Amino acid sequence: DEETEKDDPATLKPRPPVVAVMGHVDHGKTSLLDALRGENVTAGEAGGITQHIGAYQVKTKKGGVITFLDTPGHEAFTQMRQRGASVTDIVILVVAADDGLMPQTIEAIKHCREANVPMIVAINKIDKEGANPQKVRERLLEHEIIVEAMGGEVQDVEISALKKTNLDQLIEKLALQAELMELSANPDRPAEAVVVEAQLDKGRGAVATVLIKRGTLQRGDTFVVGAESGKVRAVIDDHGKQLKKATPGMPVEVLGLSGVPSAGDVLTVVENETRAREVASYRKEQQNKARTTQAPV
Ligand code: GDP
Repeated sequence: DEETEKDDPATLKPRPPVVAVMGHVDHGKTSLLDALRGENVTAGEAGGITQHIGAYQVKTKKGGVITFLDTPGHEAFTQMRQRGASVTDIVILVVAADDGLMPQTIEAIKHCREANVPMIVAINKIDKEGANPQKVRERLLEHEIIVEAMGGEVQDVEISALKKTNLDQLIEKLALQAELMELSANPDRPAEAVVVEAQLDKGRGAVATVLIKRGTLQRGDTFVVGAESGKVRAVIDDHGKQLKKATPGMPVEVLGLSGVPSAGDVLTVVENETRAREVASYRKEQQNKARTTQAPV
């Protein structure tokens, strides 16, 4: 398990929080992720659009950084957790103020509880007629989510993803929550990262977007990821820029994989290519075995 071997507390340095967006369908998860990604666009970037690589970073007013998983919904979150690779530090629970608590809202609350991940409630669509944020807070209370405005400790913020209202406030609240959590990792060791998404790219071969959990990933590193192996040919950030190295909390695209891994697979840097291939082929065998035994007769 990725968490078994702990780093010496003396080696730990602060790292950015990783944030996922959850909530009921049509409550505005994609709109919010798009709006926040827009805050991240730098002058001169092609068409003012950041690359979609499955995760991106946004700067806070104080000069901090927040990493967002750019996959709305519960799949990424649960799939990664099933594989034992927990990446999410904070969840933004999006609730549409005109629609209120719905089945997937309740499901998201349950996921957060089970994973022990703190939530920030974003009451969305406050620009709409019929928006009733207070009713959302009251319904949350029924589910034992007591937001600040009701005297509790769960931060909440009224937003409009469409009109980009109060997004700054949301970012600052995330930063505050992260500060309380004192998130840290050891950057001075071989890298360990989690696959957020991966695909076969026509020109570039197998490409994986990974989130660095600890250590530093650099060009030339030899690694195992799921049942694949490889040697890092390039490390690319969410602006499409090639980097020399990636540190904890950063989402980056990695080139140089033998094949396409699955979301939730853990990428581990190992000492040499022989070792990498050994581990990968052993895992492939295990996968094939599991497949044969599970196959219907
Ligand atoms: P998702 O299914 O949760 O990802 O929801 P989407 O982001 O796709 O949004 C669903 C619909 O709600 C779209 O038509 C959006 O334009 C609209 N929407 C999202 N946020 C807002 C908002 O703040 N105000 C208003 N009026 N509409 C919004």
